Amino acid sequence: MELFFTMKYTLLTPGPTPVPQEILDLMAEPVLHHRTPEFAQILNGIFDDLKYVFQTQSAEVFVLSGSGTAALEAAVVNFFSPGDEAAVVSIGAFGDRWAAMAKTYGLNVTVFKEPLGEAAKPEKIRNYLRSHAKAKGVFVTHAETSTATVNSIRDIARIVQEFQALFLVDAVSSLAGEELRQDDWGLDVVCSASQKGLMCPPGVALLSASTRAMECLASSKIPKFYLDLKEYRKSKSIPETPFTPPVSLLVGLAQALKIIRKDTVEWRWEQQARLAQWTRSACQERLGAELFSQSPANVLTAFSLGRDLPEGFSSTSRILTYLRDHYKITIADGQGELKGKIFRIAHMGAITQQDIENGLSALVEICGNRGHRPIQSAH
Ligand code: PMP
Repeated sequence: MELFFTMKYTLLTPGPTPVPQEILDLMAEPVLHHRTPEFAQILNGIFDDLKYVFQTQSAEVFVLSGSGTAALEAAVVNFFSPGDEAAVVSIGAFGDRWAAMAKTYGLNVTVFKEPLGEAAKPEKIRNYLRSHAKAKGVFVTHAETSTATVNSIRDIARIVQEFQALFLVDAVSSLAGEELRQDDWGLDVVCSASQKGLMCPPGVALLSASTRAMECLASSKIPKFYLDLKEYRKSKSIPETPFTPPVSLLVGLAQALKIIRKDTVEWRWEQQARLAQWTRSACQERLGAELFSQSPANVLTAFSLGRDLPEGFSSTSRILTYLRDHYKITIADGQGELKGKIFRIAHMGAITQQDIENGLSALVEICGNRGHRPIQSAH
């Protein structure tokens, strides 16, 4: 039997995303030792290029082994202590998860919620923070991947600054895809990961922390070992990582960041916005889809079929299994209460318009042409 991963297939999922061949080729080179001048040079390049991608000059960037959740956890365990008040703005599964994580470490968490598919309204956050003025940190998801909704981080940042709390942003799915400017917007902590907009396999977590956040390191009383940023900070002067890093992934990440820097991050944001706009129209016109989000993100689109499901399919999950089995295309299902109800098609990282066209054409073949127009090319 042919192995699934040796066949030609297309990932249209919001992580992992497809990895360009030139990055795959570099990662297949013989493994470097991590305590060598060659590797130190790669790490130096990564730190430098990451600061560019986070749009910061003053923050300290960290490269951790693990998925995006490791960066979110590092943000909780390094800058807070049990009993600290944390205000979590949640518009979906990933906001809820950050709240659950902060509770696990003993923070005194309150959650501000909006209905699924809606972004957080900055004015409502102001009112909410007025009644939680002692919050030491405000946690917000940039692009909520479970509902394909983007929060206006720039506007929320202005409000958080009125309250002097640390502002922590989950940019796991948005980095290099949605506009984000750490220094200009005054973001204290930004977390991300390798497997989405950065076009690499999963396994590297990224964190960028302002001077103000770093000042909280020494007083944090949460026990930690593997994710202790004090240890990472000590090794950064060489530069090294305190533990064995995923060397080959970092070789790939170094190249991906160079590509992004050469394109410029602004170009990437614009490119994503165009692709997102095209995808939303194509879903509506070709599939008669209803978009799920009121504030759609530029890195992925969530939609339902808007009418009865095609005969023989009891949920969107069944359609997605059929799509994967027969077309070798993977599109994501809804999460939690949205499972079986929506499709989530990613257009982040190296995903091209042609990839999305192929995915939508396959869905049209399976579901029948429910829209009113054939797919239109953006060119
Ligand atoms: N936050 C967001 C917004 C995400 O999209 C994801 C991954 N889908 C995570 C957190 C969790 O990241 P990981 O699965 O890499 O741990």
